[in-house]
Amino acid sequence: DVMLALKGVEKVYNAGKPNAVEVLRGVDLELKAGELVALVAPSGSGKSTLLHIAGLLDSADGGDVAVGGERVPQVKGEGKRTALRRRDIGFVYQFHHLLPEFSATENIVLPQLANGVSDRQAQARAAELLALVGLEHRGAHRPAALSGGEQQRVAFCRAVANQPRILLADEPTGNLDPGTSDQVFEALMTLVRGSGMAALIATHNLDLAARMDRIVRLEAGRLVAG
Ligand code: ADP
Ligand code: ADP
Repeated sequence: DVMLALKGVEKVYNAGKPNAVEVLRGVDLELKAGELVALVAPSGSGKSTLLHIAGLLDSADGGDVAVGGERVPQVKGEGKRTALRRRDIGFVYQFHHLLPEFSATENIVLPQLANGVSDRQAQARAAELLALVGLEHRGAHRPAALSGGEQQRVAFCRAVANQPRILLADEPTGNLDPGTSDQVFEALMTLVRGSGMAALIATHNLDLAARMDRIVRLEAGRLVAG
């Protein structure tokens, strides 16, 4: 069951200009349901570009992207890419980007309401997710009242609230100390294992990468098995 398929994906910034940067030169990747894959890539190698294309936030200049078997048009101004992103993609960044004025629970409830889920169901799902990551007692707290690791666990809950097919994370433990990283990683594992999602997690932490199902490395614009 392939959740995400990238085939020959290319990306060039400033194409045709003297300062052109060929970042992706034919990236192939398949993520299957339930799979947790580590993306290891040095700074500047195109990791964010790749995650943004896989997350339907940016378009490729060549190659194909398919989500849940459905081909995603790589054209700007196409409503379809945005619709697929809202339905199928969850994204987590190095910084949590939670809404500061809202509680942890509300941060997980709001995207569900925007997706047409009833308030009662959204509250129930938020409570269930918070319990899964060990934060059942933190639902009423605003982000500023939570530790860094707690904020990231809430960010993961929010990202999976609408049951996306694909979870993407860009160095989600990059700001955390090793013990806290471990805790956040355990929470991530729990969320992915308990769902049919596929996850691609960019990390510099080789210990965490080694605990995922497999590692892919971005080298000279292509993905190689790590
Ligand atoms: P990473 O996340 O691995 O650090 P990025 O995907 O952010 O790498 O960037 C890869 C390369 O593409 C870098 O050389 C960067 O300077 C360049 N780049 C990224 N975004 C743009 C852009 N919008 N315009 C021009 N060059 C860019
Ligand atoms: P660390 O970042 O080392 O985990 P913190 O001092 O940030 O530790 O937080 C320790 C605990 O106290 C966490 O569980 C956090 O949720 C709670 N906490 C921190 N600040 C507040 C606050 N302003 N209001 C309520 N609880 C807080």
